[in-house]
Amino acid sequence: MEGAAVKVEVVVVGAGIVGLAHARAAARRGLRVALVERTERAVGASVRNFGLLWPIGQPEGPRHARALRSREIWAEVARDAGLFFSPGGSLHLAYHADEWQVLREYVAGPGGGYGRELLDAPAVAARFPAVRPAGLVGGLWSPTEATVDPREAIGRLPAWLAAAHGVELVFGTTVREIRPSRVLTSRGEIEAEQVIVCSGADFETLYPEQFRAAAITRCKLQMLRTGPQPATWSLGPALCAGLTLAHYDSFQYCSSLPALRERLQAALPFHAAHGIHVLVSATAAGELTLGDSHAYGLTVDPFDREDINTAILGYLDTFLQAPSLAIAERWHGVYPKMTDGSSELVFSPEPGVTVVNGLGGAGMTLSFGLAEEVVARLG
Ligand SMILES: Cc1cc2nc3c(=O)[nH]c(=O)nc-3n(C[C@H](O)[C@H](O)[C@H](O)COP(=O)(O)OP(=O)(O)OC[C@H]3O[C@@H](n4cnc5c(N)ncnc54)[C@H](O)[C@@H]3O)c2cc1C
Repeated sequence: MEGAAVKVEVVVVGAGIVGLAHARAAARRGLRVALVERTERAVGASVRNFGLLWPIGQPEGPRHARALRSREIWAEVARDAGLFFSPGGSLHLAYHADEWQVLREYVAGPGGGYGRELLDAPAVAARFPAVRPAGLVGGLWSPTEATVDPREAIGRLPAWLAAAHGVELVFGTTVREIRPSRVLTSRGEIEAEQVIVCSGADFETLYPEQFRAAAITRCKLQMLRTGPQPATWSLGPALCAGLTLAHYDSFQYCSSLPALRERLQAALPFHAAHGIHVLVSATAAGELTLGDSHAYGLTVDPFDREDINTAILGYLDTFLQAPSLAIAERWHGVYPKMTDGSSELVFSPEPGVTVVNGLGGAGMTLSFGLAEEVVARLG
């Protein structure tokens, strides 16, 4: 096989964040790992996201703990690999009394620790000049969120895994079939004791019957990015507002959430119909990454809708004041999403093979922690 190992202990299929995290976890346990990726560089969901590590979106308990562990690993990996990592936190903004009420209930409940605090409007305005002050009631500041640059991280982590952890990279190679102890690829065979399949939104190539039977679908999201903002301006923490409170599971315990949802549905029916909630993060170069919308279904519509982008930008304008929102790039991404409320799909279709998928909108947030758990269970 050209330039690839013929015998390793673990083959990881897919070099998105899920595969990279499993390759790291296995290599750190001293296992000889080959990472096989179909394309010359991974261009799936993992390079198309905000780069947000978002523990605050995870419900309290094992998922939140996994998110915090992943963030810790990201910080370590970013330091060692020389990647952009901004520990800037997050700010959920309230411009309506019902949004403020949800934030108050949130901090009074289990999510209220971790250094999270409610700030009134003057405190937000004093600390965060990127926030539009008109009509602001207050905000929930949280220090646990961080931002990486997904294009940089997913682009550079493979070479770092090879250099620092001896992972063998087999890129531009499709895994066609997995047989006991053998991985059949488009460029030959690899012998392996364990195979970890992290194939993202491709449900058709490997174990299609099992994917068809699983409670999993696809979700398409539209995204935008501005050019670099002036060096004198900075976003500060990643920002979001009322629509985001209705999106993440972590706010479910707030008793006034159903009423907020109802008001948002009536006030912003287009946003509700297209699953729009609006987040903004910044890259090292000062570009603002903006999104997103959510369209569910196994067949992904290839055509992006400008009315969705307009709705995203219109809502953004209610809480962000930035020097320029001129858009430099538009794209969409697709992730696998569980339909039964689970946070991931982990199963073993045959001895020695583990499939890890279905992390939905939280793959950057959860993968490093999940991978440690999965690899530890392999023995
Ligand atoms: C627009 C958008 C915004 C998001 N924002 C965030 C965010 O800010 N924070 C967050 O935590 N999460 C976010 N997510 C979710 C996150 O990006 C995903 O959960 C994560 O990227 C999924 O990673 P993955 O490795 O499973 O998939 P992918 O990144 O798609 O990687 C799968 C890889 O497997 C390869 N592959 C598939 N089949 C084979 C095969 N047979 N042989 C070889 N290679 C194969 C593919 O080529 C691909 O490179 C977002 C997602 C999107 C789309």
